This record gives sequence, structure tokens and C-alpha cells, in this order.
Amino acid sequence: MTLQSFGVIGLAVMGENIALNVERNGFPIAVYNRSREKTDAFMAKRAGGRNVKAAFDLKEFVGALERPRRILVMVQAGKPVDAVIEQLKPLLDEGDIIIDGGNSWFEDTDRRTRELEPTGLRYIGMGVSGGEEGALNGPSLMPGGTDSSYQYLSPIFTKVAAQVDDGPCVTYIGPGGSGHYVKMVHNGIEYGDMQLIAEAYDLLKNVAGLNHTQLHQVFTEWNTTDELNSFLIEITSNIFPYIDPDTKKPLVELIVDAAGQKGTGRWTVQTALELGVAIPTIVAAVNARIMSSIRDERIAASKQLTGPSGKYGGDVKAFVNKVRDALYCSKICSYAQGMALLGTASTTYNWNLQLGELARIWKGGCIIRAGFLNKIKHAYDENASLANLLLAPEFKQTILDRQAAWREVIMTAAQLGIPVPAFSASLDYFDSYRRDRLPQNLTQAQRDYFGAHTYQRIDKAGTFHTEWVPIT
Ligand code: NAP
Repeated sequence: MTLQSFGVIGLAVMGENIALNVERNGFPIAVYNRSREKTDAFMAKRAGGRNVKAAFDLKEFVGALERPRRILVMVQAGKPVDAVIEQLKPLLDEGDIIIDGGNSWFEDTDRRTRELEPTGLRYIGMGVSGGEEGALNGPSLMPGGTDSSYQYLSPIFTKVAAQVDDGPCVTYIGPGGSGHYVKMVHNGIEYGDMQLIAEAYDLLKNVAGLNHTQLHQVFTEWNTTDELNSFLIEITSNIFPYIDPDTKKPLVELIVDAAGQKGTGRWTVQTALELGVAIPTIVAAVNARIMSSIRDERIAASKQLTGPSGKYGGDVKAFVNKVRDALYCSKICSYAQGMALLGTASTTYNWNLQLGELARIWKGGCIIRAGFLNKIKHAYDENASLANLLLAPEFKQTILDRQAAWREVIMTAAQLGIPVPAFSASLDYFDSYRRDRLPQNLTQAQRDYFGAHTYQRIDKAGTFHTEWVPIT
């Protein structure tokens, strides 16, 4: 019997599509899904004429694969991954590789690696970005684990991944859970991007008064610019002209304004807090989704809590350009935060992450793909130990040139009562980062006052405590 080169367990949207992608690139595949109906439907509807072997139990699946086996698990993150591993373990041989391609929590990946590798099995935790379309036509892949295991997978993954001008959108990320960590932060950055775009839309629609045709035109034009050209801006421009066939209104205005989330944004915030890295734009994006989700409460509050309203009274075309500048400056700050988080995680966990290379593999396939990532890669190529992206010459100059517009947009939003939490958080990040003295001298004094936490002085060395009795 001829054996298949690659196996996929889990035939929901992601597993199905990545399986077809692997096969299309010349690697015969075996597939298995817990419930038989998905496998039957996949074979009947999508696998016809392709080199796909369907298995209906794991023993048959494992027996269909050449050794060492390469098995991609694309099931729901969490307990299902452990369940699949437990079922696979007794069926596998030394050297076989299990790849978890789901959105697993990185510490789970670390634990699974520790448990599996001493048994002779190899484990790769791989972030996969790009949704179902990316999985089918070329995702961005973020594999973490032992380098030698990745080398055995790389002939497949370099073909399956999206291809950009400087290579396939895959690279060895680092040991243990690093691949899943990088994917998680990628998703956090994606939250930031989406919130910033939502705020720009709010300003253009509710402050500048643009209609949907004009919104489409503005975003289409922004998508041609070096700085904003990206998948998310492109799909945003396509959303505005879409008319609901029933009501003949723009569909976007009929969609309930309560955003869902599956957890990777929240995880990014949690780990940033634990590592002590400030990521205020991404925090603002997660909070904005939370605020959006208490819709009934907001509707009730809107009848009681008044505030300013009205439209922008100045030059609308100039204002639109200022919103573009504010969006770009905020986006730079958001990526600076995401990269700073990755840098600290790399040092903390000894991952040796190559930040420029991460920007490169996000250029294609994934949701945050954008021309702008070239600039980030370039910044790290120039200086691999850059303390913060804001200090890269190009980004520094961009913000210095555009900060007046950015500030004006935020002031206008505040005057007209439009919340711009991610724009504001980004500007606060910039202003905090560039200040040589922050007001936390007072915080330290208060901490010493009520808790004898001590403080240090700028004029002499040592640790001090004061009895802060009021002077009468
Ligand atoms: P999903 O809805 O997250 O998971 C469904 C799959 O998991 C089904 O094949 C299901 O099998 C299987 N499953 C659930 N519990 C199981 C168990 N205890 N044992 C064995 N199999 C079990 O599928 P998905 O949307 O394709 O996502 C797969 C993974 O990729 C997830 O981790 C997801 O977070 C990640 N991801 C998704 C996207 C996306 O756009 N959807 C993008 C990137 C990454 P049955 O058919 O038997 O129920």
C-alpha cells in the first residue's frame, strides 16, 4: 500500500482547507475527523479526484502515513487537543511529529511538549493565520518546537504557506510554545488594527458626515497608500458599498454593534500584564469589544447621559486626511506595543525571536498582512536590538510630521463626544514613552505615605522613607 505524506485530524473549516492546500502542493494526505459525517461530506464534496485517503478510526489513519509521521491536529483548542494526543500516543512510533495548528494557549503547548518529547514523539505548536481562505490558498504559519522537527516539516510548510516577494510566510519561530505565543500576539495586534479602523469609520461617518459611497472611496484611496495598504483596509472599503437586498440599505448599518471575541485578544492582554509590558492600544481594543457587548445597557444609558454632539464645522477633506494620519500614527504605536511584548517574552522565555522575520511572515496570508510590515522588517534589519519601533528613523519621523493632525483629531472627537479609545491610548503611549519625567514621583510619595513602600531620589543614591506627617 502506498503511504501518504501528511495527515490531518479535524475537518472543520480550517482542517479541511489546510488539508486541501497540502495535497494541492504535491503531498498525498490522510484525513480523520472524530465524527464520521464530516469526513464523508469532505470526501464527497471536496476531495474528489485528489490524493486523499479518508480514515474512520485513528489506527487506520496512523497506518496510512509514511514514517516518521507528520500529523497536523486542527481541532478546537483546549481539552480536545489533549484528548486527541492521548488517543494518538499509543499508536505512534519514535520520531513521529504531532503538530497542533489550533489557537492553543502557549503554556499548554509548553506542557504538551514537556510531556511528549521524553517519550520519543516530537511536538510542534504552530500558529496558523488567515482564516479559512488563507488555510486553503496560503496562510501565514508560525511553527514553534525543536528546530530539527521543523526542518522535517519545512519542505511542506514552505510550499503551503502564502508566498511574498521575500519568500514563504513561514519560518522557524523558536522552542516550546513560542509559535502559539507569536500567533496570539498577532491576533492581539489584529484586534488593535480593527478597533483603529472602526474609530476612523466612526469619525468619518459621524464627525465628517461621509456617506457610504464616500467611505468606500476614502478607504479605497487609503488602500493605495504605502502606509495603510492592507487586507483589513481593503475589506473595509469593500464592506461599505454592499447593499442589503431586502432593505436596499448599506448592510453594515444593519449589523448589531456588539463585537464577539474568542479569547486571543484577552490572552494577549493577560500575558502583557504578567510580563509588565504596556500595550494600551490592544487593551483599548479588547475593552471596546467588551463595551460594545453591553448593548442593552448602553441603549438605556443613551437616554439619560447626555453629552456634546454635532458635525465637524471645518474643511472636511482636510479632516479626512487628518484622520488618515491619526490612524497611521496610532497603528505604529500599536505595532510598537505588540513588538515590545514579543521582545520581552523572547527574553523572558529564552526564545530568541527574530522580530524582523516575524514582520516578514505576516506580510502574506494573515489578517494583518500589510505593506507597512515591510517597514517594520526594515527597521529591525537596520537595528536588530531596537528598544522600541517608535525609535526607528522612519517611524519616528512619520510621527513627528503627523502628530499635530493626530492630536487635532482626538481633540475634535472629545469635543463632539465620539469615543476614540484606541486612538487616544496610542497617543498616550507615545506621550508617555517620550516623556523624561512622568508624574509617578507623586505615586511613589503616596505609596511611601500610606504603606512605607520607600522611594528613591533623583539627587542622591539610596532608598528612603519619610514620616509624612502634615506640617502644621
Ligand atoms: P473548531 O470549530 O475550532 O473545532 C471543530 C473541530 O474540532 C471539529 O473537527 C471537531 O470534531 C473537533 N473536535 C472538537 N472536540 C474534539 C474532541 N474532543 N476530540 C476530537 N476532535 C474534536 O474548528 P476550526 O474553526 O476549523 O478551528 C480549528 C482550530 O484552528 C481552532 O483551534 C481555532 O481556534 C484555530 N483557528 C481557527 C481559525 C478560523 O478562522 N476558524 C483561524 C485560525 C485558527 P467533530 O466534527 O467531531 O465535532
